[in-house]
Amino acid sequence: MIKRAVLFDLDNTLYEYDPPHKKALFAVYKELKNKIKLSRKKFDFLFKISKQEIHRELSGTASAHNRILYFQRLIEKTHNTIEPAIILKLYEVYWKAFLKNMSLSHGVLSTLKQLKKQNYMIAIVSDMTTHIQLRKLRKLKITKYIDYLVTSEEAGSEKPHSIMFLLTLNKLRLKPEEVIMVGDSLISDIEGANSVGIPTALIKKGRFYKQSEESYQKPNVVIKEISEILDILNFKIPRVQTTR
Ligand SMILES: [Mg+2]
Repeated sequence: MIKRAVLFDLDNTLYEYDPPHKKALFAVYKELKNKIKLSRKKFDFLFKISKQEIHRELSGTASAHNRILYFQRLIEKTHNTIEPAIILKLYEVYWKAFLKNMSLSHGVLSTLKQLKKQNYMIAIVSDMTTHIQLRKLRKLKITKYIDYLVTSEEAGSEKPHSIMFLLTLNKLRLKPEEVIMVGDSLISDIEGANSVGIPTALIKKGRFYKQSEESYQKPNVVIKEISEILDILNFKIPRVQTTR
């Protein structure tokens, strides 16, 4: 069936998450070190366990990634009390540094431009709070190419929950066969989209790709560069059928 839209994951698909995250955490550490005596090792440990606690309690919801909750837990551990000014400042410092240091992956901008030129609709399907994902889209300067954004915050559950993909199809007013999902996660993106009948493309930048035994985790196609999606949509390369 002719495709009408492309669904993209955001983090680690359209940009690399780790470089800006590392710089943002370093900025947070520097900010906190101005206020209290704290080694980098201790900070990393406290941040890690704060994040683990939030994940354990909120796994599957957008709040599981909300940095304000990580920093609240962290400050409760370092200060044994609530310190609104510090928590809010760390949150601000984190996202300021993150946004400043993030950039689109190779070939993303030209691919989005080409897709729009060919009249495809584009939606972002992402696990996070809407406020932050909107800020990322604005910073990456790609908002004019994006027709819809669906976040786990508005859907109520994270990928691979079907609601993320069904809500996206609903906004686009399209059927599963009329779109393709592109993402880096076998579970979140591939299994989630496959389970509602959406064809999938796994983006794997590393050299190795270990195929999953789970049938829902089998992408229709594996790509190394985002621009390859143009060839797939234009039938220039054969599409692998999933067996299920
Ligand atoms: Mg991702």
